[in-house]
Amino acid sequence: MDTTQNEFDFESRIMDTEAIPEDTEQNDNPLRPKILDEYIGQEKVKQNLSIYMEAARQRKESLDHVLLYGPPGLGKTTLAGIIANEMGVSIRITSGPAIEKPGDLAALLTNLNPGDVLFIDEIHRLSRAVEEILYPSMEDFSIDIITGKGQMAASYHLPLPKFTLVGATTRAGQLTAPLRDRFGVVLRLELYSPQELATIIKRSAGILDIAIDDSGAEEIASRCRGTPRLANRLLKRVRDFAQVLSGGVITKENARTALQSLEIDELGLDQNDRRMLEAIIKYYKGGPVGLETLAAAIGEEAVTIEDVYEPYLMQIGFLSRTPRGRCITAAACAHLGYDFVGGANIKPTQQSLFGN
Ligand code: ADP
Repeated sequence: MDTTQNEFDFESRIMDTEAIPEDTEQNDNPLRPKILDEYIGQEKVKQNLSIYMEAARQRKESLDHVLLYGPPGLGKTTLAGIIANEMGVSIRITSGPAIEKPGDLAALLTNLNPGDVLFIDEIHRLSRAVEEILYPSMEDFSIDIITGKGQMAASYHLPLPKFTLVGATTRAGQLTAPLRDRFGVVLRLELYSPQELATIIKRSAGILDIAIDDSGAEEIASRCRGTPRLANRLLKRVRDFAQVLSGGVITKENARTALQSLEIDELGLDQNDRRMLEAIIKYYKGGPVGLETLAAAIGEEAVTIEDVYEPYLMQIGFLSRTPRGRCITAAACAHLGYDFVGGANIKPTQQSLFGN
């Protein structure tokens, strides 16, 4: 077995905002907040949601259907669980690609109890045929099922309990208009601020019994790309370094050493980010370069670039999307040690961070 390859895989995945087994292996992830008060940040979303939930509770109705959208790892699944908890109902969790046939959805829907939450992750990946039966079930709480073929075909009208559909997507723009219109509540999750992330890290450290001081939490918070999933993942990795190298307590110094060893720079960029930014600089003179071309150049999927790399790089002003493609910014060039000459003729001026 090629161990070098394995090490590379591990390191290239650590800053991937998609969930990996370590994040989800315990169904009952102890780091997931269970009630709204434990859910840190996203103040506007929480404020609105708590009013909608209180109103529904007062009217003794189920909550209207909710669409949550935003980049991976920001807390959409967590929020769906909180909604079910706060409404005192059960949650069924599935995802767009897992519901292959209309019959799969019918089975899920007919097994719900009144008020239950059905959480569909990656809802933009539902097939057309499945979407067709989702519409009436969301609107009229009933489904029409056709069995058999030709002359033997029979249609059944099945009433459903009133349920709340919570849909999550990283790309609201890919939802069909009829589906989007059927959500009464649409909430957009934003990347978290370093202060909010430091609070999340200290909360997680408390739950996992990890000793960390404020400066250690702030150091990790400033390098986790605004994403709680990464904050928790980095916390666990930094703990390993702190435990082996310096007696267990996470401080600014040992957090720095650990993150440097993981090749995560002070802005939270990992080798994949740097590879992509450098490809734009070296091969496309700073851009513009089309998404598909860039994806092919770095051997990455276009959706991964859009969902995982870009939100943070755009937020920190390192990348801009133009109608003609992606462009690097002067700030990104400066960070990577390149001169910025109007997006062209970019020459290395010094060795990039960590010798890359
Ligand atoms: P998504 O569904 O958007 O990909 P998750 O809900 O799975 O993201 O969140 C990933 C992890 O981040 C969760 O396991 C949870 O521990 C943590 N997390 C997310 N949002 C928050 C928050 N607002 N406060 C504290 N922890 C959070």
